[in-house]
Amino acid sequence: MKSEETEEQIEEVLEHLWTLREQRVAAQPDLAGEPFQFDPTAAIAVARRRAWITGGREGLDLTPAGEERAAGIIRRHRLAERLLFDVIHLDKEAMEACACELEHSHILSEEATDRVCAFLGHPPTCPHDRPIPRGRCCAKFSDEVRPLVTPLSQSAIGGSYRVVFIASRSHQRLDRLAAFGVVPGAVLRLHQRLPTFMVQVGGTDIALEREVAADIFVLPH
Ligand SMILES: [Zn+2]
Ligand SMILES: [Zn+2]
Ligand SMILES: [Zn+2]
Repeated sequence: MKSEETEEQIEEVLEHLWTLREQRVAAQPDLAGEPFQFDPTAAIAVARRRAWITGGREGLDLTPAGEERAAGIIRRHRLAERLLFDVIHLDKEAMEACACELEHSHILSEEATDRVCAFLGHPPTCPHDRPIPRGRCCAKFSDEVRPLVTPLSQSAIGGSYRVVFIASRSHQRLDRLAAFGVVPGAVLRLHQRLPTFMVQVGGTDIALEREVAADIFVLPH
């Protein structure tokens, strides 16, 4: 087996363990019956030797080092999804196939991943609404990369914008915006910034506080 192939298989195993943990499902001790297109035995053995996974008969789990490794893979995968879905407009099926290729560390380095993240406006979730692990880039807005996806609060009056994601974790706020038709994919026109933001969505004008406009991330439409 080529070593690059082994590395990819180890990454698939770590990604899978992360996803099971996220879904609060315990991993099979040997990952038997799991949806791999390969026999994971060799990859599990190497990951164990590197102290990335632990556990025995009761089930496998990630060690802190393995968790860090897995977070990087999940981060690349979910950012790749955002890139392919929001910017390149692939449909969900094509996006999923492609994102699994891009998640491997020999394709997207950590630096390249951080640049993609900045370009996309440091999105908190993937198109399936699962959290994207934060990177070093997310702590501070760097001006190294001019983001393509920006908050509505920083957008110019008169422009048309497509909503890419809404960063709010408040369900109340998300529900209120959804009631007005402000959801990912919706097209908004920005009419006014002061004293409140006025946007037109589907023929209706709505007023938004600056704080709310700052949570709505858009692309020029
Ligand atoms: Zn994947
Ligand atoms: Zn996803
Ligand atoms: Zn970031």
